Amino acid sequence: MVGLHGGSRVHRCFPYPLQASNENHRVAPPSMGEERKPLVRAVDMGKRYGDFVALHPLNVEVHSGEFFGVFGPNGAGKSTFIKLLTGQLRPSIGQIEILGIDAEDSPQKLKANIGIVPESESPPSFLTPAEFLQFVARLRGLDNLEQNVEHWLDWFGLQEKRDTMCKDLSKGQRQKVMLASAFIHKPKLLFLDEPFANLDPIYQRKCREWLLDHVKDGGTIFLCSHVLEMAERMCNRMAIINNGKVLAAGTVTGLKENESETLEDVFIRLVGHSIEEAERNNEEGVSNEEE
Ligand code: ADP
Repeated sequence: MVGLHGGSRVHRCFPYPLQASNENHRVAPPSMGEERKPLVRAVDMGKRYGDFVALHPLNVEVHSGEFFGVFGPNGAGKSTFIKLLTGQLRPSIGQIEILGIDAEDSPQKLKANIGIVPESESPPSFLTPAEFLQFVARLRGLDNLEQNVEHWLDWFGLQEKRDTMCKDLSKGQRQKVMLASAFIHKPKLLFLDEPFANLDPIYQRKCREWLLDHVKDGGTIFLCSHVLEMAERMCNRMAIINNGKVLAAGTVTGLKENESETLEDVFIRLVGHSIEEAERNNEEGVSNEEE
């Protein structure tokens, strides 16, 4: 079985600065004087559930003002990745520092300082959207609490449902409440796991525009999704993962082999190949012992 201590084969997933590269896993480091402390830093971070390796050790750095996306098919390890970075899961190996906070030592402090929109979580069933947003606004110590809550109920078209218990909302409405609860405090660093899965195209666009403006205003975003369109439209840098491994990382243009290649072609080239490899290894009874 694959071990988690593959030091020499750890993928370097932080190409920087943001420019095209021939070698997708590594781009030249920042030149002297440009070095800044990353907001997200994971070193040899890996996760195992029992014998199953959900995420092989990897390194990642995300700097202020970046829109970083992790893409991969279902079961690739995207949620595991984001849960590790947000202190929701403890790593089996490695160090994680977010906004200078150690994720393993201080997960509560970490969560208090970031915004998270988890993949499948809903707002509390027996609170209404208005009550939940008031609760979050109070917890986050926001000024103009009522005004803020009303703004986000309006923004997401939730006024009609403001007093309906969240358990009686549609999936999309619940997702809007979760997004509103993250947007309301304009977090410096925002983590989003499949943020638009249940949203209609109008609200997908509205949220995309809000997120891009948030980055322009100095925010930083780390997003996981299987929807490649989001990478093309939003991300400065991205990583493609499958079977818990980083297959490639870089800028959207840097990952393309030529100008005519689409991101979907890149995805199929990388992920398709890794699926074929897994199937062949399976047939041949080969394991990943070199790792
Ligand atoms: P993704 O978000 O890319 O769909 P996940 O990170 O949710 O993928 O899962 C990656 C792999 O880890 C999957 O094969 C999944 O079945 C497995 N996995 C996730 N959570 C657990 C768990 N708590 N116990 C065992 N296996 C898990």
